[in-house]
Amino acid sequence: MSSVVVEHLSKTFGAADALHSTNLAIASGEFVVIIGPSGCGKSTLLRLIAGLETPSAGRIEIGGRDVTAVEPADRGIAMVFQSYALYPHLSVAQNIAFPLRMAKLPKQVIADKVAAVAATLELEALLDRRPSTLSGGQRQRVSIARAIVRDPAVLLLDEPLSNLDTALRVRMRHEIARLHQRLGATMIYVTHDQVEAMTLANRIVVMAQGRIEQVGAPLDLYRAPTSIRVAAAIGSPAINLLPVRIVRAEPTVVTVALPDGGICRIDAVVPQTTVDAPATLGVRPEHLHPDPLGVFGGQVELFERLGPLSFAHLGHGGDTAHLVAQLPHNRHVVLGETLRFAIAASDALLFDGAGAAY
Ligand code: ATP
Repeated sequence: MSSVVVEHLSKTFGAADALHSTNLAIASGEFVVIIGPSGCGKSTLLRLIAGLETPSAGRIEIGGRDVTAVEPADRGIAMVFQSYALYPHLSVAQNIAFPLRMAKLPKQVIADKVAAVAATLELEALLDRRPSTLSGGQRQRVSIARAIVRDPAVLLLDEPLSNLDTALRVRMRHEIARLHQRLGATMIYVTHDQVEAMTLANRIVVMAQGRIEQVGAPLDLYRAPTSIRVAAAIGSPAINLLPVRIVRAEPTVVTVALPDGGICRIDAVVPQTTVDAPATLGVRPEHLHPDPLGVFGGQVELFERLGPLSFAHLGHGGDTAHLVAQLPHNRHVVLGETLRFAIAASDALLFDGAGAAY
């Protein structure tokens, strides 16, 4: 097990700032998931930690040792790629054994380790096969086996499940969670998948434009995002964001006017000077409760039933704003029907003009 610390880590490609003076401390044994929009620098951060890219500035520590100038093979890390990156001409057993052969371990030690890892990942029956004869899920299990066979202190995973179908993703997600519990290795995992982030992570790192926006436990980020970017990055369906105007600021309660003129009171602390200022109200779909007198609502444009959960997409106030509400599972909905909703004052989030949470 090993901690990972990056300090003022930067990477520029030509004029482009892929990563901007980033600080992050990951505890030994922690499972950290990095999310953020395409191009925000997730893979760059991972590849810098792996040693596959050279930093433009800053330093990297693994297990208390400065590894900024250390070769990838000597960092005590292993990496799993979206593309599996298996050797096509080698059998599954030879692929898994490859890093051990490179390290020139004795034959019997290699055989024992390969057998142990194959058992962990249920690959025993496939050891003589070539990668081309395996399914996507099996290939990814082989690439994970190859990564963990050297007992890396830190396992880096770059969108490892992206190429798998939904059912396999769910299974592999469970396998990775079990693997983490079993190995106790520090894991750093890049994904676009909300569910992977929420279920696997001890902490989630939300990135945007080459910077870390916020780091925290999944539920803390969900309940208390510090910016619109983080609020929008966490939760599915996404949080509703409505342009509002602050009309009254009391010590712990703010009154805002909605786009259609409705008035809503929410728990937040804002300076008196913000009265009359534009702001953004954030309301999660599950926090909209059906209420005929509620100030939120609109005509049902789309209705989605996802097993036990149902969501109504509503046209809001005649403009382009759009509201998604989670409905009680037995609620029958007709397209075009008008639905009204209310929220609890404590459930709403309020953001200032620059997108920072009040
Ligand atoms: P995605 O989710 O699409 O994989 P990401 O968040 O992992 O994106 P990075 O791959 O880290 O993003 O890229 C960050 C920025 O750096 C992007 O603008 C990308 O185009 C740029 N970049 C990454 N690698 C290189 C490279 N080798 N040469 C030039 N620019 C690069």
